[in-house]
Amino acid sequence: MGKDMIKNELMHRMKYDKCPICGLVEKRSESRIESVLKGAVTDTDTRREFLDSEGFCKHHAERVLRRKQPLSHAILYGNLLEYKMRRIGREKFRKAKCRFCELEDESEKIYVYWFAKSLTEAAFFETYKEQAILCTTHLDAVLRKLRKKHPMRETLIETTKEKYDALNRDLQEIRRKYNYKYAKEAWTNSEKEAWKKAVRLLTDQGEHRRK
Ligand SMILES: [Zn+2]
Ligand SMILES: [Zn+2]
Repeated sequence: MGKDMIKNELMHRMKYDKCPICGLVEKRSESRIESVLKGAVTDTDTRREFLDSEGFCKHHAERVLRRKQPLSHAILYGNLLEYKMRRIGREKFRKAKCRFCELEDESEKIYVYWFAKSLTEAAFFETYKEQAILCTTHLDAVLRKLRKKHPMRETLIETTKEKYDALNRDLQEIRRKYNYKYAKEAWTNSEKEAWKKAVRLLTDQGEHRRK
């Protein structure tokens, strides 16, 4: 992927008041899931890689399962079952990492790097400021890429903190409105989303692959 393409992808993803890095890592792995499921039927490399990692990790096995493609599953898991049967009672080989976890590690590194690198471009930062929010995991990851005196380091921290403050105010409002005295007050649109947004932003979406 070229530099401008990655930067554009990040910019484009900054529309939804969500973490653009989480969104892009997931988008890339979803499209890879699609191609692996197709490859299971036609491509021997796909089947061999599946055996090398002895299947997918639990997280990705469940995501792949949701695609509901019985034939691809019958091929991949049929091979794995035969392989496991041959190896019953024998010493275990070191297995490769789940290929989707590997892909996510790789794309996360690229997006974090280019996010940090693009911060000095005014249009990039303004788009972030107006339309997106980094999750706490990716804020940390981007900050690790910026040296202490980087011109945008403090600005990024301040801007993101303002966004977290706004979210926290919504969470406090939700709690207040559960009090019977204020229960008649309507919820704002952002309050309706805030409790779900907080879970998304505070949960490391890549936890399954960090060991
Ligand atoms: Zn994120
Ligand atoms: Zn995985």
